[in-house]
Amino acid sequence: MPAAAKITCLDCGAVNRVPTDRLTSGPKCGVCGAKLADGKVKALDPATLAKASKTDQLPLLVDFWAPWCGPCRMMAPQFEQAARSLAPHARFAKIDTQEFPQVSQKFGIRGIPLLILFQNGQEIGRLSGARPAADIEAFVRSHAKVSA
Ligand code: ZN
Repeated sequence: MPAAAKITCLDCGAVNRVPTDRLTSGPKCGVCGAKLADGKVKALDPATLAKASKTDQLPLLVDFWAPWCGPCRMMAPQFEQAARSLAPHARFAKIDTQEFPQVSQKFGIRGIPLLILFQNGQEIGRLSGARPAADIEAFVRSHAKVSA
């Protein structure tokens, strides 16, 4: 991890440069003031997903889900738990593939739930199926460079 990490604000889409040693002190977006890495799962739109997936140096795990998908809804609390335990060193977000079907096509998704992990502007791993929090956390730690 470099001395500062580029992080896209998942609320307004602004790219922030956050000194790595300040990650744990509740960094906020310089444009809109939203917390950048508070362990909450943010709902994305396709534009913010595209920007964050191409930009962020901090690991970003995205849950591709839909309201009709029972396993997706079952996994949601586990995903939220893993998000809290890895914060602020990895961020978690979700995107509704029913509302935004174009993202399924863009990322070649054939089944949900599917988790895609991004870091340094690249996709670095996928995990499919409903998983417990411990599996999700282990997946992020084994694929991404997580500093704590
Ligand atoms: Zn912002």
